[in-house]
Amino acid sequence: MRILIIEDEQKAANYLKKGLMENGFSVDIANDGEDGLHLATTEAYSLIILDVMLPIRGGWSIIKELRDGGNDVPVIFLSARDAVHDRVHGLELGADDYLVKPYSFSELLARIRIILRRHPLQQPEVMRIGDLELDLVRHKARRGSVSLDLTVKEFQLLALMLRRRGEVLSRTTISEQVWGINFDSDTNVVDVAIRRLRKKVDDPFPFKVIHTIRGVGYVLDDKA
Ligand code: CA
Repeated sequence: MRILIIEDEQKAANYLKKGLMENGFSVDIANDGEDGLHLATTEAYSLIILDVMLPIRGGWSIIKELRDGGNDVPVIFLSARDAVHDRVHGLELGADDYLVKPYSFSELLARIRIILRRHPLQQPEVMRIGDLELDLVRHKARRGSVSLDLTVKEFQLLALMLRRRGEVLSRTTISEQVWGINFDSDTNVVDVAIRRLRKKVDDPFPFKVIHTIRGVGYVLDDKA
């Protein structure tokens, strides 16, 4: 599940991104309204977290543009504007929810899950490939009847690969999506993490799902 955060306060956006990533989401950030709308219309997201007051183009205008264009992606407003008429306006424009800053992360997460549950096509709670199963809500992974003891990062890495199964992921993509940074000079971090993950996910089993594409990256696939 991929979430877009449109928020101009860098620190707030990064805090939110970190929390969501720890909960198995893959996250993009846009720091102004124009970038945000561009990403929202060109990429596929399960949900958008939208600020109201943004540079270049505000949150009201973004959701209006999306809804006018027939885009039904779930939107949660996250704004310091706490007046009732603001909240009503946001919902009237087609937002699925409206949370006032400062907010509690656990409440936001609960609301995200409720909204995603209403959009079942965009939110598989359990992802499977072959006998590998990842339960994103309970944070559990297993192969067949064997449960896998994964660290938070290993779980995120596996969730990313499973979500984008069949797609070769570069080290850059993996480091950005899992660690939120790009280890340009030290891509070894990704290789080490993949090696650890393989030890748990593939080594004990006859059928391997993680494959190396030399010179490009890694892919999760149930084809040999
Ligand atoms: Ca703002």
